[in-house]
Amino acid sequence: MDNTMIIEAKNIKKTFGGVQALKGVDFKIRTGEIHCLAGENGSGKSTLIKIISGEYTPDSGEIIIGEKKYNNIKPREAIHNGVQVIYQDFSVFPNLTVAENIAASHELAQNKKIVNWKKIKGLAVQIIEKLNLHLDVDAYVENLSIADKQLVEICRALIQDAKVIIMDEPTTALTKKEVTALFKVTSELKKQGLAIVFVSHKTEEVFGFADRLTIFRSGKNVVSEEIAFFNRMNFSQYMTGRELKDHSFDIEINPENILFEVKNISRNKEFENISFSLCEGEVLGITGLLGSGRTKLANAIFGLSKIESGEVYVQGKKVEIHCVRDAIKNNIAYVPSDRLTEGLFLPRSIENNLMAASLGQYIGKLNMINWRDVSQKVKSLMASMNVVAPSAKLPIQALSGGNQQRVLIGKWLNINPDIIIMNGPTVGVDIGSKDDIYTIISDMAQKGIGVIIISDDLPELIHNCNRIMVMKNGRIIHEYQSEDLSEQMLSETLGEA
Ligand code: ADP
Ligand code: MG
Repeated sequence: MDNTMIIEAKNIKKTFGGVQALKGVDFKIRTGEIHCLAGENGSGKSTLIKIISGEYTPDSGEIIIGEKKYNNIKPREAIHNGVQVIYQDFSVFPNLTVAENIAASHELAQNKKIVNWKKIKGLAVQIIEKLNLHLDVDAYVENLSIADKQLVEICRALIQDAKVIIMDEPTTALTKKEVTALFKVTSELKKQGLAIVFVSHKTEEVFGFADRLTIFRSGKNVVSEEIAFFNRMNFSQYMTGRELKDHSFDIEINPENILFEVKNISRNKEFENISFSLCEGEVLGITGLLGSGRTKLANAIFGLSKIESGEVYVQGKKVEIHCVRDAIKNNIAYVPSDRLTEGLFLPRSIENNLMAASLGQYIGKLNMINWRDVSQKVKSLMASMNVVAPSAKLPIQALSGGNQQRVLIGKWLNINPDIIIMNGPTVGVDIGSKDDIYTIISDMAQKGIGVIIISDDLPELIHNCNRIMVMKNGRIIHEYQSEDLSEQMLSETLGEA
């Protein structure tokens, strides 16, 4: 790899009001590298990007590009030096075509009197072909998917002679397939000698695509090394600043202690002949591609839809689950995948949300709610779930994703479940909260609760589960013991699935 430095940011400081967003940060970008910038929310990543691109003025420090030093680089100078940023909020013009978005500003910048639309289209086609993209130059950008809008921005950056393309969390709104496509383009750009900086926390993206990784924590660059230096463990440690526990299980599972069992359960067009059992203290993973039936299965077990045939046993006793109340009566809890629409009442307080499933326990004589008990319980739940908030009266929507998820899990733990199903337990939570949630899962298992985790996150499944089942087209096609399983094997099964 050519290691020429393109841009260096040196000792950059930036304060907003009372908040010191950057506390003297160094950051180097080299030609032909894919450089991932990671760090928890608020660690200063976007601020640095805006300083490099001239959108913000730093309080001190300098940006060095080639021979030139800037204390206060202007957006035009940044672009002139080949710095292009692709933001989360897109700066494409929705009512122009793809060709116009890609090439018009370039053409107009030449200060010609007559706009040559044919030339614009030609330029756009050239770039699109150079990158092997499938974009219709005549399509209006407002009709494109987010992924395609991003590609339009990348093409536009190229036409403006980009040397560095910086993407701030480019994959948050993309599907897996779109992410793969984006990274394919990214590798193409790298081949052409550009440097790419992208912000991401997702381990599979960081380890799959980056050549170099820099991690910010609280406004500081805590590490910047080639990717080979990192593994999942030290990655998390640098991100959070704390040692992550290894949760890998040594709990002895007694196969006699079956908590929950389904025999040949089916629901038309959703899942078919599903049989499995779950022991005390066992963590069972269920994975499968979108549409494999895993969520439909979970919904039916929790009484959200009807199991049409087959049998369900709780503690060896045959039970009928027709509705959510039946599931709760049998001590089954469910943490749904979409906490924002299904799991939580967003405008309501943390307290209300925590108590939503279990308020019945606190109703005493004369149907009076014992609020003192409620508020004590709320306090202890917040402490044990590590929910960080100044007050339990705060609306839940004010909390971070990780805190919201811990409230949601707390809500269900408070019904004292024997069985808990967690669908995508760490989707959209930061890596520190992820670790807290893994601790909660392992604590639940220690207490003898049977846990079912539905997830696409293969490292997560391998890390937390004793056993993993893979679903396809509504059926279980594989079952693994975690100890015999590598991520590679699991992902191959999923691939063939
Ligand atoms: P990241 O991109 O790593 O999530 P940011 O750079 O957006 O972090 O933010 C770093 C810190 O600076 C945060 O505490 C954030 O609230 C603060 N901050 C960022 N931009 C502004 C702004 N325009 N005004 C006030 N505070 C800001
Ligand atoms: Mg940001």
